[in-house]
Amino acid sequence: MVSRRAPASRDGNEILDTRGDLWLKTDHHRVCGRDFPARHFLVCPRTVARHSTVLAEILFRDGGRTPSGSETANTSAAVETNPSWVVHLPEAMSTPLKWLLQLMHGQFCQPNAYGKLLMDRYEIVVLADKYSCLKLLQPWANIWALDLDPYRAVAPRVLCRVAWLSYKLGEPKVYSAAIRRLVVRFPADSEELELALASMTLPPSLEDSIYHERLAHITLVLDEIQQCLDELIDINLKPSPYCHLEGGRGSKTIDWDVIDCHAKLLGSLIQILARDKLWPLPKPSGLTDLSLRELGCTVSAMAESSKARRSYNLIKSAHISCAVSFPRLTLDHPDPSPDYASEDSATGTLTSQESRREQADLSDEEYEVHVSLGYFYRLTASEQEYMASQARLFDR
Ligand SMILES: [Zn+2]
Repeated sequence: MVSRRAPASRDGNEILDTRGDLWLKTDHHRVCGRDFPARHFLVCPRTVARHSTVLAEILFRDGGRTPSGSETANTSAAVETNPSWVVHLPEAMSTPLKWLLQLMHGQFCQPNAYGKLLMDRYEIVVLADKYSCLKLLQPWANIWALDLDPYRAVAPRVLCRVAWLSYKLGEPKVYSAAIRRLVVRFPADSEELELALASMTLPPSLEDSIYHERLAHITLVLDEIQQCLDELIDINLKPSPYCHLEGGRGSKTIDWDVIDCHAKLLGSLIQILARDKLWPLPKPSGLTDLSLRELGCTVSAMAESSKARRSYNLIKSAHISCAVSFPRLTLDHPDPSPDYASEDSATGTLTSQESRREQADLSDEEYEVHVSLGYFYRLTASEQEYMASQARLFDR
């Protein structure tokens, strides 16, 4: 009787099945400063094929009867256990592949053993999706979904990971919040965002969604500013929505006092726009170096300028309450929670949503009304679109 003990991993070899007759071979990868060394995994090919139709296609042909894609084994452990069948998986990273193979072979660990970092969870879900075996991760889906926290993510790469995980784990609100932050926080010409979008596995159309959402909301904000400027320039504007002097509310004769008030408000607006390099007002597609968040700060400054001038007694008492306003925009407010200390989740740890809410003392609903009402409306539409898609991993 042949007895095979279960050898520990050594020399880059991992034994998942002591009776296995297939080596799965991975290459060395380096991602975000982390090394994933080349490994050989000894596995049962039929177990692997049973869990993954994609790997079954790679491993077998002729309806599963004939091994395919094999090459001669040349590792010391391969010689020791004598399987001659080796299949190379050049795109698979060794650590997430090991986790998946452990699950396939019934080697379960505590939930957090499968990745304490967001990056780990992202990589294993990417690989499970690639090999069409996401169902293996179902026992961890709820726990992982609860840990997703887009409000504390700063770097585009981290937000893209949150977007991908929430998309695959069936968390549409988290998914929308991650897109929202990608839209609001980064200008169109952000190299950091461009690099993340180009190098990562992402939900379908995410890049297009970010582009169109950003452009739509920049257009909305610039239109509001332009409308305000046009109204202040128009000396026949009656009633004035900005000057609260009696004449501003509809006198039939020209009220030079109101016109003078408008001129001051107009000058103040132009000064702020020029300070923020927004004068003359650019076209929406030409505004590539400013984020929506920064544009929101400019709008806030314009709405607040009258208050500042009042505090320095620069406005005559009759015009003390005169100010510009942007009725279609809600004014920006600070982020509800502190950001991840690290720019990259490779070192950032996960925090539960409960603890985030405790720190921030602010509900999601309060945060959603950010920048503009139109913005919220459009993202809600994309959330509904997502809910209707078939891409979700589980019905949750
Ligand atoms: Zn006035």
